[in-house]
Amino acid sequence: MNMFLTKYTQYLRLRRFGTLIILILFTGLSLRANAVTVLLYHHISDTTPRITSTTPGEFAQHLQMIEDNGFEVWPLSKVVRYLQQGTTLPSRVTVITFDDAYDSILTTATPMLEKRGWPFTVFVNSAAVDEQHRHIMSWQELNSLQDKGGELANHSHHHSHMATRLEGETEEQWQQRMHDQILITKDKLKQHTNSELPLFAYPYGEFDQPLQAIISELGYVGFGQQSGALSSALDFTALPRFPAAGVYANPKTLRTKLKSLPMPIKSVEVLVGEDQSGLTSYAVKKPSIRITLEPGDWRLSELACYVSNQGTGDITNIDTNNNSFVVTAKKEIITGRSRYNCTMPSQEGGRYHWYSHAWLRFNAQGELPTD
Ligand SMILES: [Zn+2]
Repeated sequence: MNMFLTKYTQYLRLRRFGTLIILILFTGLSLRANAVTVLLYHHISDTTPRITSTTPGEFAQHLQMIEDNGFEVWPLSKVVRYLQQGTTLPSRVTVITFDDAYDSILTTATPMLEKRGWPFTVFVNSAAVDEQHRHIMSWQELNSLQDKGGELANHSHHHSHMATRLEGETEEQWQQRMHDQILITKDKLKQHTNSELPLFAYPYGEFDQPLQAIISELGYVGFGQQSGALSSALDFTALPRFPAAGVYANPKTLRTKLKSLPMPIKSVEVLVGEDQSGLTSYAVKKPSIRITLEPGDWRLSELACYVSNQGTGDITNIDTNNNSFVVTAKKEIITGRSRYNCTMPSQEGGRYHWYSHAWLRFNAQGELPTD
């Protein structure tokens, strides 16, 4: 509210300079509103698999970086509530999330976060907890996190590749199986921890449109593992998070991500593919998306788009009147998960607008690679 009042005072002062300044001012206001980044962790350990691990030393560097850059750390549920209500957030807010309920969250990360009084969210895959898998917290341990600033949320029961249909499974059977996967964990979280937050993280960050529809129908907000800043303009069944483990734990690159702003998206249109969510069949080798930005003095010449595993993508059909452009991979995208990442420098120095489009491409047998 204070920020708005300050802005409004500036607006009154600047009004006499004419329409152009007012336009820029309101663009600036909308840009700074509701820009939040969410960081995604798994293990905080130097003895677990590197790809899903952030070392305690790296995690300490990340927390210091968050503080040094003037960010507030909020619980995910509070951020979602603000975005849903369209309430303006401070310009520097970040959220810390952990997937998979690993015990290093309790033993290593929680004391570091508790010392700073910073909240966090753990997405729980309940079968692994029930079956007491190695390196997974018990229900009692998970419950204890709630007294230490932790929120508990839904990561499905079995942590399967949810978009994959089983052999011979009808669409109705798949839907029922997905309902069960989500509702079993919902019940268990309620039963063991009295937690019932409407937050869901897709296992492996994989989703397709029918799965998004189920998430929405069950009243959940869905999080993937594609990059980008949150904004109220995005689809609430496919919100982005920045992975911060393995190669992504490098504090230098993570700082740019922490400070990223949402791309001022007006619409995203999938030009090739089976649905609008990014799911592609094996036959779609080089999918395209048309991104249209909200009006503003965007410099599309400064836009850069990258394709997973292959460097820059082709940017064509640039329409500076409509602020729209088309992105296409130069080479065939891989089967499984891949991304188109588009960034554009912001007028606020050192910050970038960021949009990531998640693709999920099935192999020739109609399956997804398992990992
Ligand atoms: Zn997971």
